Amino acid sequence: MKITVVGTGYVGLVSGVCYAELGHSVICVDKDPLKIATLQNGDIPIYEPGLQELSVRNAELGRLSFTSSLDAAVKGADLIIIAVGTPPLPGGEANLAYIELAAKEIADAMEGNPVVAIKSTVPVGTNEKVRDLIRSRTECPFDSVSLPEFLREGSAVPDTMHPDRIVVGTDSPRAEALLRELHGGLGGAFVVKDIRSAEMIKYASNAFLATKIYFINEIANICEKVGADVTRVAEGMGYDKRIGSSFLKAGIGYGGSCFPKDTQALIQIAGHFDYEFKLLRSVVEVNQGQRFNIVRKLEAIFGDLEGRTIAVWGLAFKPETDDVREAPAQEIIGELLDRGVQVRAYDPIAMDNFRSHFGGGAGRVEWCSGALEAAAGADAVCLLTEWEEFVSIDLAELRAMLRQPVLIDGRNAFREQDLAGTDFVYYSVGRPGMTRGVKDPVPELSY
Ligand code: NAD
Repeated sequence: MKITVVGTGYVGLVSGVCYAELGHSVICVDKDPLKIATLQNGDIPIYEPGLQELSVRNAELGRLSFTSSLDAAVKGADLIIIAVGTPPLPGGEANLAYIELAAKEIADAMEGNPVVAIKSTVPVGTNEKVRDLIRSRTECPFDSVSLPEFLREGSAVPDTMHPDRIVVGTDSPRAEALLRELHGGLGGAFVVKDIRSAEMIKYASNAFLATKIYFINEIANICEKVGADVTRVAEGMGYDKRIGSSFLKAGIGYGGSCFPKDTQALIQIAGHFDYEFKLLRSVVEVNQGQRFNIVRKLEAIFGDLEGRTIAVWGLAFKPETDDVREAPAQEIIGELLDRGVQVRAYDPIAMDNFRSHFGGGAGRVEWCSGALEAAAGADAVCLLTEWEEFVSIDLAELRAMLRQPVLIDGRNAFREQDLAGTDFVYYSVGRPGMTRGVKDPVPELSY
């Protein structure tokens, strides 16, 4: 099969590489010439475990190529996949400008009788609008498909090669057959629905997962008050098959390029039809506040933070990715800087991305080249991303670097036995039994 993937970001690149790995002939297109040059040189512009090896291998086998010329790449393709970004507009709605531009360019270059699939996350009705847009610009016949993507950054390659399900929204038996052939060997459920339902499956799935995280964080906040331990509560809940154990990890809340934007977009989609999605509004609001527990806990320990030095461990929104979009670290560091804190920050992979996303405040942060270096002379360490490098740190070595032995664990990464024999003041999330060294209750502060 000849496949063209438009947009070589976290989704497009992984999809393109994996389809090539399945033996298809894939051309990946991107507007960003730097990304294309990086890919043509055998490197990849993102951090994603296992991706570079597969990319190089398939390029060498002649099954995978990269170009910034959409026109040439689209001609002769059996399947054209749109995987460009749909970032949020200021009001929360998905920005469809990249989708529309890609659709126009595809329409103007298309020939034969291809299937055009949208993998990007798009509001219900977008696939139909894009189909109309393409039809308005070309006589060329084509079938259109909603093909929402469910991969997780950090495990995107195995997620793509072994999906739980492939969701296809189409009214075309030919397109369904093509996508069934493409994904046939991968396992998982092959779910064919109407286009609008397929679009909604993506938003409903992300909203539900975000709600699970929200829910366990609310439980964690109550656990802190009543003296229960949220990790034990989550474990006990998770054995119930109706609940399941995944996405029940309390912490400083979700971030990333999907959950924040997709929850906001679904609220907007419902709002367009005069429906208020009250629960999802709470999910967004509580998740936003959850990250500031880090600051509240520091203030509970130190009072005024002015003049303190705080080490921040972890800038990516989760481990095993360099993606810092909507990472809690952005706002937490912003709050600390506003309070006159000297911030010393470190992330194993996401430093460069974070610095460029952080904009004007970047000059006020000390960027460090290691976890212990960041901790040197600090009054406290705040763990925001549970990279293995932090979780497996020698706490005695860490203690020796710090001015004061204060560890704020935003991801419940450390266990009771890790801290045994140390004199750390330790705060985590929803585990009051593990809180060490501070007698005062955490005061209520509003942000
Ligand atoms: P991204 O920002 O990493 O990549 C998008 C790419 O598209 C960029 O490289 C950009 O240069 C390119 N692009 C934009 N317009 C173009 C055009 N006209 N022609 C060629 N290239 C163009 O985005 P992403 O994280 O890969 O997400 C893409 C879509 O997939 C979004 O809708 C997102 O919500 C959805 N999604 C993302 C994930 C994830 O984990 N990142 C998971 C599932 C779904």
